Amino acid sequence: MWRSATGEHMTLRFAVPNKGRLSERSVQILRQAGLEIDNGSDRKLFAAIKDRDLAIMFLRAQDIVRFVHQGAVDLGITGKDLVLEAGSDVATLVELNFGYCHLAVAVPESSGIDSIKDIKNGAVVATSFPNLTKKYFAGKGKKVEIARISGAAEVTPRIGVADLIVDLVSSGSTLKTNGLKEIDVITESRALLIGNKKSIRSKKSDVQELVAAIKSVSDAENKKYLMADVPVDSLEDIKKFLPGIAGPTVMSIMGRDDVVAIHVVVDKNKVHDSVIKLKHLGATGILIVPIDRMVP
Ligand code: AMP
Repeated sequence: MWRSATGEHMTLRFAVPNKGRLSERSVQILRQAGLEIDNGSDRKLFAAIKDRDLAIMFLRAQDIVRFVHQGAVDLGITGKDLVLEAGSDVATLVELNFGYCHLAVAVPESSGIDSIKDIKNGAVVATSFPNLTKKYFAGKGKKVEIARISGAAEVTPRIGVADLIVDLVSSGSTLKTNGLKEIDVITESRALLIGNKKSIRSKKSDVQELVAAIKSVSDAENKKYLMADVPVDSLEDIKKFLPGIAGPTVMSIMGRDDVVAIHVVVDKNKVHDSVIKLKHLGATGILIVPIDRMVP
């Protein structure tokens, strides 16, 4: 690694969560994007990427926001919730297809509270998102007291240190286990690829190349590749519900003029429906396979 005369580091620095919910998938995405990271899931702090002027740093998701903002690292994967909480001026380069959750206001099921209107001024809210929480309640005209905690907000009402909580929720099962119910959503969240605004200008081509590779992996994540043999007579009907990227690819099958093979990219959540419709239209030999990357 070397520095330019201005002291700027020239190697592209990419930060990935070193543990927690976003860690495994982040490393996996980089691998799928073609970066050879050895032992990324290990507890190591740094990995140089073979044949590239690129270094991967393993940091806490929370710290990644700050370091990208400061320019200590150029790019990073972290949670949208953490970016919003920090209020940092960083560039969102790709909204990734994982780490989905939402920041919710939750109260004890037994509290008799059904909406924000029922919350009394002076109520204590436990959260590790004090900034978003403050802004939210101020926007609702409620004066609440914020008890800042670093995690496990769900237990605080039960032990009597808070009346309600603001916390991240995905399935909702943790809330339920702790006798809590959601009454409002402050913001939705997912994993983001963020960049330092200065770096994305000064290292434009390196950044663009990496962003495109990661986007191609992320875009492919919600898609499947479907292949089937279909009667020629059904083709028009099939095209109506399988638009594909540029329409399905249709290929002839040797020795058959009544049946053709189709290949098409479909949304993951439409696979089940498509298979039922295809079977109905006489399709056979249906194959559904994952896609690693989609490069436009
Ligand atoms: P960590 O605390 O390192 O496990 O990472 C927490 C980040 O994972 C959060 O800031 C969110 O962006 C994301 N996340 C996704 N689903 C959840 C969830 N149910 N609870 C907490 N964090 C979640």
